[in-house]
Amino acid sequence: MFQLRGHHLLCLVGYRGMGYSNEYVSNMTHVHQTLRSYPDTPLLLVSGPDDLCAKFPPSQPRHCEDDHIFQRDTAVLEQLHLRIGQQIPWRTVEDRIRHHVVPHDIHSLCSTCFWRAYGVCEEGIQDIRTGRGLRHIP
Ligand code: SF4
Repeated sequence: MFQLRGHHLLCLVGYRGMGYSNEYVSNMTHVHQTLRSYPDTPLLLVSGPDDLCAKFPPSQPRHCEDDHIFQRDTAVLEQLHLRIGQQIPWRTVEDRIRHHVVPHDIHSLCSTCFWRAYGVCEEGIQDIRTGRGLRHIP
């Protein structure tokens, strides 16, 4: 089981192997590829720092507990019709994205995110909506 916060559910669909450090990337790739291979993997939706935040490099300015990040979590969970404390398989997240999120929603949900400019999160949502699922990370 992985513990994930709201906005990271969308970060995972846009993930292409980029991140804050080698350790962060290695951990996120492990989570991503596990969900890709085993979509029945259970997730516990948590408030605040999760299994991805756990590998955020201590040498960089930490934003994991900033108010606007918590607000992003809340907005994403509301959009997906999910709530903190729920335990669900990854495939349910994909199903909720398919029904409740369009690529353009990234602009409003993630307006302050540095990674948004790459366009990969919109692409990832489109992948889920068209049934392609999570991409293979080489
Ligand atoms: S734009 Fe940023 S916060 Fe939003 S899904 Fe992408 S990486 Fe995550």
